[in-house]
Amino acid sequence: MYPSFHHSAVGFYSYLAIAFSRNDHIHTNGASGGMVSALLTYMLKEKIIDGAIVTVMGKAPQHSLGATECCHPALLASAIIATSEDEIIKSQKSKYCPVPVGEILNSVRAKNGCYAFVGLPCHILALRKWQNFDKKMGELIPFSLGLFCSRTPNFHATKHLLYNRKIASEDVIQLDYRAGGKNLGYMIIKLRNGEIKKIPHLSFDYWGYMFYKYFMPYRCYLCPDKLASLSDISFGDNWTGTGDHPHGTSTVVVRKPEMLTIINEMTRKELICMREISLQALISSQDLANKAQIAPRKRLLIYSVCIRLNMVIYNCTQIQDRIQSKHF
Ligand SMILES: Cc1cc2nc3c(=O)[nH]c(=O)nc-3n(C[C@H](O)[C@H](O)[C@H](O)COP(=O)(O)OP(=O)(O)OC[C@H]3O[C@@H](n4cnc5c(N)ncnc54)[C@H](O)[C@@H]3O)c2cc1C
Ligand code: SF4
Repeated sequence: MYPSFHHSAVGFYSYLAIAFSRNDHIHTNGASGGMVSALLTYMLKEKIIDGAIVTVMGKAPQHSLGATECCHPALLASAIIATSEDEIIKSQKSKYCPVPVGEILNSVRAKNGCYAFVGLPCHILALRKWQNFDKKMGELIPFSLGLFCSRTPNFHATKHLLYNRKIASEDVIQLDYRAGGKNLGYMIIKLRNGEIKKIPHLSFDYWGYMFYKYFMPYRCYLCPDKLASLSDISFGDNWTGTGDHPHGTSTVVVRKPEMLTIINEMTRKELICMREISLQALISSQDLANKAQIAPRKRLLIYSVCIRLNMVIYNCTQIQDRIQSKHF
């Protein structure tokens, strides 16, 4: 049994680390250390999961809530069920626009098997709420991988950036919010005429100011959960100022014992490079002292305690059997 700790801004956790994938392609193609995709591809290969719910750009969601009316399809993102390594790799990198990840869950519910779900803290909360009243969803999705999140700008952020750069939305055939390989990289916009625009991450009209300061949905102002405390394992950029690989490193918060077993096994097989960090390093690097909405945080704590007590929600016997059969 692994020890479990609790901190009000982090939630329950068993292990804190910085890590990156040793697979060069997954590493350089990832948002930070490629850890989300390294873990998903490993779980898929080892048949611990049958697929993963991930997000891709350039695909209009079914229920767009008005997004399709205001945006060209190349600017939209939606969730898919990835069942191959290739699909997981194509879904890498952060999408800085609203993603209705939940709409794919109806299709998942019609399936059998085990799936991993990747989402922001608010996506994970929605999944947990569903799992709380629907046992089948708990059994179908026993692994949730959270992304740290301080905010997601609405579509107007991207539209403003394009307007500022005199780019018409209709001319965009592909948009990658976080391409370019190294560290934060660039936004890369491919245009119909073959031109490619590269926008450094910290440009004034990107995360340097506009994306950070404006275009923030109300829900983000009220959000108490930066580190996806209801997930089984969560990932962010490494801002600790230590151990950074030139191609990027992920910060990892492990909450579920099975997840620790799996990533330890990946380290042993030299698939990832991982180093433990302290709680203090995590808290100061992610500026968690700023997330001070105490009341919602208390509700989050009650929720995570409920999840831990009611292990059946996301700890189905099927998954135990699959992991134990690997003799880790
Ligand atoms: C909106 C947003 C805000 C973030 N804010 C922070 C922050 O404040 N601090 C911090 O340290 N890290 C933040 N991150 C997390 C960070 O950018 C990386 O996503 C994380 O470190 C994982 O990197 P990776 O290389 O391991 O993942 P990769 O291998 O690149 O895989 C990323 C996975 O996340 C999925 N994904 C990407 N965008 C979304 C989305 N919008 N909704 C649902 N799933 C998505 C992809 O489909 C893919 O499966 C944020 C990410 C997003 C999307
Ligand atoms: S800040 Fe909170 S509400 Fe906003 S996108 Fe991130 S997880 Fe969701």
